[in-house]
Amino acid sequence: MPPDKDKNRKGPSNPRDPQDRRNFIYYYGLALLVVLLLNWFVFPRMFEPPVELTSYSEFLSHVEKGEVAAVDLQPNQIVYRIGEGEETRLYKTGVVEDPGLAERLQQADIPFAAEIQETPNVFLTLLLSYGIPILFFIIIGRMIARNMAGKMGGGGLSFGGGQTGKMYVPDDSDKKSFADVAGQDEAKESLLEIVDYLARPQRYEAVGARCPKGILLVGPPGTGKTLLAKAVAGEAHVPFFSISGSEFVEMFVGRGAARVRELFDQANKKAPCIVFIDEIDTIGKKRDGGVIGNDEREQTLNQLLAEMDGFEANNGVVILAATNRPETLDPALLRPGRFDRQVPVELPDLNGRVAIFRVHAKGYQMEEGIDYDLLGRATAGASGADIANIVNEGALRAVRMNRNKVSQADLEESIEVVIAGQQRKNAILSDEEKRIIAYHEIGHALVAAKQTGSAPVHKITIVPRTSGALGYTMQVDEEEKSLVSKNDAFRKLATYAGGRAAEALVFGDITTGAANDIQQMTRVARAMITQYGMSDDFGMMAIEEQTNPYLQGGTVTNASQETLKDVDDQVKALVQKAYDTAYGILAEHRPLLDRLAEYLLEKETITGKEFMDIIEPERSETENETI
Ligand code: ADP
Ligand code: MG
Ligand code: ZN
Repeated sequence: MPPDKDKNRKGPSNPRDPQDRRNFIYYYGLALLVVLLLNWFVFPRMFEPPVELTSYSEFLSHVEKGEVAAVDLQPNQIVYRIGEGEETRLYKTGVVEDPGLAERLQQADIPFAAEIQETPNVFLTLLLSYGIPILFFIIIGRMIARNMAGKMGGGGLSFGGGQTGKMYVPDDSDKKSFADVAGQDEAKESLLEIVDYLARPQRYEAVGARCPKGILLVGPPGTGKTLLAKAVAGEAHVPFFSISGSEFVEMFVGRGAARVRELFDQANKKAPCIVFIDEIDTIGKKRDGGVIGNDEREQTLNQLLAEMDGFEANNGVVILAATNRPETLDPALLRPGRFDRQVPVELPDLNGRVAIFRVHAKGYQMEEGIDYDLLGRATAGASGADIANIVNEGALRAVRMNRNKVSQADLEESIEVVIAGQQRKNAILSDEEKRIIAYHEIGHALVAAKQTGSAPVHKITIVPRTSGALGYTMQVDEEEKSLVSKNDAFRKLATYAGGRAAEALVFGDITTGAANDIQQMTRVARAMITQYGMSDDFGMMAIEEQTNPYLQGGTVTNASQETLKDVDDQVKALVQKAYDTAYGILAEHRPLLDRLAEYLLEKETITGKEFMDIIEPERSETENETI
């Protein structure tokens, strides 16, 4: 790359922003003013020895006693000194019409009308009273400036200048490669092209192909976007500049734009390289959105757009950006020539989760024969970051239990910890409460087991969790499902209802224990009716829309008030139907319910296999029945 490609850039080449220079002048102007005021009003008083006020007669008596060392006859006061050196004391008194005074002083051999204080060195005075304070302010100013630059990741020295963006050159210890990113095969494939381009640009130039300038990684939090960007740098062996959108926001007004310019200045010098802007949504929001504009953010965004247009394609700088809210981005950012390529980084599927478990397990001492497949199936919906966390929690548990290898049980337990909170060992439950909880949980499990097509029960426990859950029934799907049918969804509703139905059936009373089930049920039932067209009345009418596909954002409602009332009625009816179904199943299998509940009460935690062993004989008898 020719070193003079900077010429092609738009905007002033002076790295110091005019805004900065203004700040700079304000700062030193203010400092100078403070020094002057101090010198005029404060210091003179501080350095003068205190002067005592006396009467004229006192003065005369001092003169007579021969104590006075020198007298300064000023037009409106007489200042005199007693003693020498350290002992010096100054007095002053008013002027009295006394023509004989001069003579008396002469006789007493007291120097008068002379300067009492020695004239200090003028140069030294200036230095002390102006030089040192100014120096002091300069040092403070520098320290502040450096601090700010430091916060923004640079090691800048001058006020307002400074470097931008952490330059992250992958070293051996923190080097990431594509092997560290599990799953995400499509994303890796898209990025492989970039790696190849950065490593061998000539091939592309020869054909005349232009590499995309900007690539946007979009996906939910914790799916490995930042990790992927680092892996690209690691694979391509090029410098990597990274800055987070949120870092721009905390800066002074006007600084954001300057940062962007400096960042691209540096990147251009280091090309080929990667510039990574994390959380770009914080600066790239749509500009016309709010009533009160955010000037600072707009300036920063405009500067970013200008920079992206400014450099030619194929100059070796590739910009990666990550966001989990692509829908909020300004359309200008997404048009061709800017971030024109989007790489989705989705939540991992079953294979992806298994692979992520395996990648993270490499960093720990694992027992032989861990069933990664099962772990993957038990963690549907978890992100890569969640899985990394689960593996680490499992390792911590192994240490707590004085083992030097992480076991399958550790990992399964930590899945529950991450999902349901820590086990609460000392929670005190009365026997009656435990009985209710056991029936509640078996209610869920039995309803699930008795409906063909429900996910098999993996584990049931009535050991309370710190999250507040008193029991827990874990179902693990055999294989991953991308589509949920109407019957699946209804079976799920009935399974949720199973807890409450068991309580009502067995105890004739109901408890607060079903609060969470009720929430989940209502959510699923509502989504079935308003989003998935699974109601009889509305058919395929969309009543609600999901606003943010990546962050479980809210929903917007498109329907009228009357329709919404109908929706409520239908949700109510659907939930009721699910409850009735659950109640029916449990009533029919009441002896089995009792037997299972007793067993769970005794064991506190039972596995899916133990559970199935108890219901198996009965199951074979009633195999033909369907619900
Ligand atoms: P994002 O930037 O998408 O929010 P990160 O890249 O910061 O997520 O991921 C956080 C952590 O989660 C990573 O450091 C890594 O340990 C783990 N992680 C996430 N996705 C994956 C993945 N696909 N493979 C391996 N580890 C992952
Ligand atoms: Mg990130
Ligand atoms: Zn429940």
